[in-house]
Amino acid sequence: MQGMMMNRPLKISDIITFSAENHPDSEIVSVRTEGDIHRTNYLETSKRIAQLANGLETIGVKPGDRIATLAWNGYRHFELYYAISGIGAVCHTINPRLSTEQLLYITKHAEDTLLFVDITFVPILEALKDRLPKNLQFIIMTDQKNMPKNILNALCYEDLLNNQPNFINWPDFSEDTAAGLCYTSGTTGEPKGTLFSHRSTVLHAMMVTISLPNALKEGNKILPVVPLFHVNAWGLPYAAPLCGAGLIFPGPKLDGESLFSLMDREKVYSAWGVPTVWLGLLKEISIKKRSPKNFKDVVIGGSAAPSSMIEAFESLSINVCHAWGMTEMSPIGTQSNLPIRLKNSSLEEKLKIKTKQGRRVFGVELKIVDSEGVILTHDGQNQGELFVRGYAITKGYFKNQEATNNAFDADGWFGTGDVATIDADGYLNILDRSKDLIKSGGEWISSLDLENITMSPPDILSCAAIAVSHPKWDERPLLLVVPQEGKVVDINSVAALLSNHFAKWQLPDDILLIESLPLTATGKVSKLSLRKIYKNYYSERV
Ligand code: ADP
Repeated sequence: MQGMMMNRPLKISDIITFSAENHPDSEIVSVRTEGDIHRTNYLETSKRIAQLANGLETIGVKPGDRIATLAWNGYRHFELYYAISGIGAVCHTINPRLSTEQLLYITKHAEDTLLFVDITFVPILEALKDRLPKNLQFIIMTDQKNMPKNILNALCYEDLLNNQPNFINWPDFSEDTAAGLCYTSGTTGEPKGTLFSHRSTVLHAMMVTISLPNALKEGNKILPVVPLFHVNAWGLPYAAPLCGAGLIFPGPKLDGESLFSLMDREKVYSAWGVPTVWLGLLKEISIKKRSPKNFKDVVIGGSAAPSSMIEAFESLSINVCHAWGMTEMSPIGTQSNLPIRLKNSSLEEKLKIKTKQGRRVFGVELKIVDSEGVILTHDGQNQGELFVRGYAITKGYFKNQEATNNAFDADGWFGTGDVATIDADGYLNILDRSKDLIKSGGEWISSLDLENITMSPPDILSCAAIAVSHPKWDERPLLLVVPQEGKVVDINSVAALLSNHFAKWQLPDDILLIESLPLTATGKVSKLSLRKIYKNYYSERV
């Protein structure tokens, strides 16, 4: 028997309409690429979104068109999210840090028809103009006053809005309609596209809101350092308006000093980003000998948060929420906020829990399996490949049947490529990406475990443990360590520290001090590049 309830489609436009009515005054503050600060709120923004949507229709945008953006975090980028999807088109956020070849590949693969570009990225356009598709129309995200001259017949963003009505009757369509497109940064091979639907996006916004209530509350100001081009800034542009939290968009400057002064001035309560950005902020905090006013919560994800970083924040009474997810999951899968019964735990206990990636959010199911696909029990010991299914998880890659065929098991669960344990309380512990695990003489060594311990002394800024092929053992770990600026790190003391925590066969064969680590387009340490650089390191020594 069927239920007898309305089946209204879940639509992204409902989020901004709701927010304009219920949280009209909640602020959106942006550091603009033009250099100044811009202030608005959800009510005014909803009107500009309507103008933009009307403008897009006027220049011929049709449902299903892919409309690309190459932009920092700011109010115009936020407006594009809603205007494009609201009329049934697809917002394709492009990561400007991708290599030229990847950028060309994904604009062609997505068949983008319009490309919205921040002024700062105009030089990228100019460099690529002869190789980009001929019919791609450029729109510069600024006003006439700041419009660069003679740019490839580009239109001006504000001209699109001028004279357009600030109201729109958002059309109805199936909730499975595509709304957003995001390519993985290609850490491993060609970028693959995840095509989010209205349904998955709205459900993910609700899932995130209920799962991270510490940050997502009416009146809180939230700083997405995570870019709008990195899996929809982890859902914040949808979750924040839904609950009435304000958004502080940082623009292009993401160094510790710029972040500190922005957070201090705007009284940011919660800030979200990958571990590398917090290194800069923590350094600024130590220089200033205080944290930014009102800063009480930090969400760290995208790669493993070292326990030394979690400790640094928690010691300042800043709650750390360590989160795990993937582009293909919209992206949030687990989060490590403590349940009420553990809120008063000691710092040591908190660290033990929060160094893990946390428990699943509502709407995500997790399973770990062995190499035969047999489901392993959640006892914190069994290590297996992590599979997921849920309300906001991909069912295939955009126009890529081959990758789709390899991504799911026979029961339709998505293979994350991560190796993990799950304990009896449901805490996920990511040991590694399966391709980053170090396979030595038939045993596995977790690079994340080695890195976590290496990062504990304060003189170490960052590090990476990688697998390097070895004539006898197949692979052996090599540890690369970056000292803090002006500090001297003694390799022998790093080796001694590791030998207190690991069996002899798990220890790196060598430890090298280097100046910096290569990063991927989303700010993670690029182990792919490191493995290429050090490919023959052990074979040449034997
Ligand atoms: P990519 O880095 O491939 O472009 P994603 O940003 O979707 O794409 O990365 C997802 C992967 O990042 C996960 O499968 C996992 O390996 C890693 N990851 C994300 N969050 C964490 C975390 N908190 N701890 C450890 N690894 C993480």
